[in-house]
Amino acid sequence: MNLILLGPPGAGKGTQSVVLSKKYNIPHISTGDILRESVKAGLPLGLEAKAFMDKGELVPDEIVTGIVVERLKKTDTKKGYILDGFPRTLQQAVDLDEALKKESGRIDMVLYFETSPKVAIERLSGRRVCKKCGFNYHVKNIPPKKEGVCDKCGGVLFQRPDDKEETVLNRLKVYEGQTKPLIEYYTKKGLLKKVSGDMMVEDLFNVISKIFSDMKLA
Ligand code: AMP
Repeated sequence: MNLILLGPPGAGKGTQSVVLSKKYNIPHISTGDILRESVKAGLPLGLEAKAFMDKGELVPDEIVTGIVVERLKKTDTKKGYILDGFPRTLQQAVDLDEALKKESGRIDMVLYFETSPKVAIERLSGRRVCKKCGFNYHVKNIPPKKEGVCDKCGGVLFQRPDDKEETVLNRLKVYEGQTKPLIEYYTKKGLLKKVSGDMMVEDLFNVISKIFSDMKLA
């Protein structure tokens, strides 16, 4: 099952990816996570990407597409994969199609998380992430037992620099301008399936699981 999760920042794509990846035993490939790891490791790729990420702008297409094409060559993607946060531009989508065609691969479904800006802003501005293990919390919706401390590993929780309000607004603007056209692109290909990103995690997970079983994808 080869999936793309599409939707604005704050739609819950990352959260669903984690649970879906566990249930269906397929890797979760998040370009945002890969880029943040590169920043953390001080890699040249990270240094180049950081300036764009901190402003809420998109990292250039050729960099991001290169990362994904290399990642898809790994053997753990043979049974399927979840692309989270990629593609984000029409160019990335076209280049992904080209790369897949060469390997006789294909995308089975694009899940579009339709989400209201109010919910997205509320989720992003309240998000806190563990510095050590990367687990995500939310100050209201998923609070840790002890404020500022990760329940899982005791690590310190922090706010992603791009989750600050002014950057969040820019990320949503970038989504509207550059990523939204992908809805039409994948609708025309007959791959798009709309779900509500405003739903609670567990409820949405059940909706998606049913879609997969109805369509005999899993
Ligand atoms: P995310 O964690 O998916 O919200 O991504 C965080 C940031 O990483 C984005 O705001 C972009 O700066 C960068 N990024 C992630 N995925 C992509 C992509 N497919 N194309 C361009 N930039 C990306």
